[in-house]
Amino acid sequence: MGLEKLLPCTVTLSKILAKSGHDVLCVIDRAVPNELAEVFEEHRSYDKAFDSVVSCFKSNLGLPVIYAPVQELTDYDDVRCYQKAAAQSLQRAIKSGFKAPLLVVPNSKRFSQVELCTVLGALEELYVPIQLREEVPEKKKRISSLSVLINNPNAEKIMKDALVLESARRIARDIGGGDPERMAPPLVEAYIEPLFANLSVTVISDVDVLSNEYPLFEAVNRAANCVERHQGRIIFLEYKPPKPARKTVMLVGKGVTYDTGGADIKAGGVMAGMSRDKCGAAAVAGFMHVVSEQKPEDIHVIGALCMVRNSVGEECYVSDEIITSRAGVRVRIGNTDAEGRMCMADVLCRMKEMAIERDLPNAHIFTIATLTGHAFISAGEGQSIIVDNSVAAKEDHARKLQAAGQTYGEPFEVSVLRQCDFDFNAPKVLGEDVVQSNSAPSVRTPRGHQVPAAFLIKVTGLDKHGVDSKKPLKYTHLDIAGSAGEYPNMPTAAPIVALVKTHLID
Ligand SMILES: [Zn+2]
Repeated sequence: MGLEKLLPCTVTLSKILAKSGHDVLCVIDRAVPNELAEVFEEHRSYDKAFDSVVSCFKSNLGLPVIYAPVQELTDYDDVRCYQKAAAQSLQRAIKSGFKAPLLVVPNSKRFSQVELCTVLGALEELYVPIQLREEVPEKKKRISSLSVLINNPNAEKIMKDALVLESARRIARDIGGGDPERMAPPLVEAYIEPLFANLSVTVISDVDVLSNEYPLFEAVNRAANCVERHQGRIIFLEYKPPKPARKTVMLVGKGVTYDTGGADIKAGGVMAGMSRDKCGAAAVAGFMHVVSEQKPEDIHVIGALCMVRNSVGEECYVSDEIITSRAGVRVRIGNTDAEGRMCMADVLCRMKEMAIERDLPNAHIFTIATLTGHAFISAGEGQSIIVDNSVAAKEDHARKLQAAGQTYGEPFEVSVLRQCDFDFNAPKVLGEDVVQSNSAPSVRTPRGHQVPAAFLIKVTGLDKHGVDSKKPLKYTHLDIAGSAGEYPNMPTAAPIVALVKTHLID
């Protein structure tokens, strides 16, 4: 599919501070182009709040100006301050009724990717949710066109990069933000297929295949399977590079289209917002879109979207059931609300098998999931968490991904996996190999976001591929519960940019 269709409006690069083609100038930096210096100084001279509030005024260029200043930066602020200001400037432009803003993109000595990040911040503000686009077509676009003025010799490259990344983020926001019916698993399949015509797409929907090959996923799917439009899907997307691959990136995303908690139902008013529990799978889809656009010449990429609804009903799985995973590990269910690890585990195991059977070069497998409330309270809103296994940790992977996240406005906290995280899931009685979860919510469980990573390693047999094994395998779990974007905020599509910058570009 053409990029234009995935963008919020016509987006063009402007070379000069031109008057024609625009109806307003959006400025976010204190340092303004010479043409605007006088009018800015004039306002500053009588308005003490000028550099701290959003304002709209007439300029000498014959165009009105919206000034949404980047806040005064401390040592601890990051590039997201520019993204926020860019979004605020467009928000105000839309509110004022302008249709064709020209955004003046600042430079920064401190933030090397400020231009790209600022453009992304602006584009993000222009996103219109898929259901509004479909149901009220006249509201498809918030403005008719956006021009950006980038004062950098690489302006064209930056712009191209921003458009590819934003189209990927839009796909992720559509899937992640769509309501539980619009983005039910079969409709995610229908949404995905036309987008990825140049990748190989394999969809697993047959219940017998799911039961035999992905039994932990099927346990979650059991209740939802009674309603045709809610039936689960595992969607594999594969990109094979034209040259022999030097590395293989394998991504598994949690796509719980609605999480009621299952039989351990989310009671007491904590269920609303649970349609965002598919943002991990949404991020995988977005990442695959960048792959399909950039077509890396020697990187092999396989993505999997684990789309399932955690429903309640007479067929739902319950605690105390013992279910054998694809890898042959006997799992005792402890809490049906710990469905995220269930729906990803056997798909992660399948990725492990592919890496081994096909001897894929330099494979690195990921799980990406809005997995635990614990991740939200420990990293705070806006931050993702990285948990590397021993093999990935040996390469210092988490620090590299964290550095990219810092540069591109998708920050991460790094967590360390420890033996106690494995011990927590240890079997208690004869007949079980691992306990899926305790019965308390993750926020009341010590190390509540590290423990599921240990579970995923154990239940898939990845524990047999440690640093001293014959076939060490790199595995990283990303918990994005803090960063995915909670209602009433839009889904953020994190951490697509950081992953692309770490794993598709060296
Ligand atoms: Zn849950």
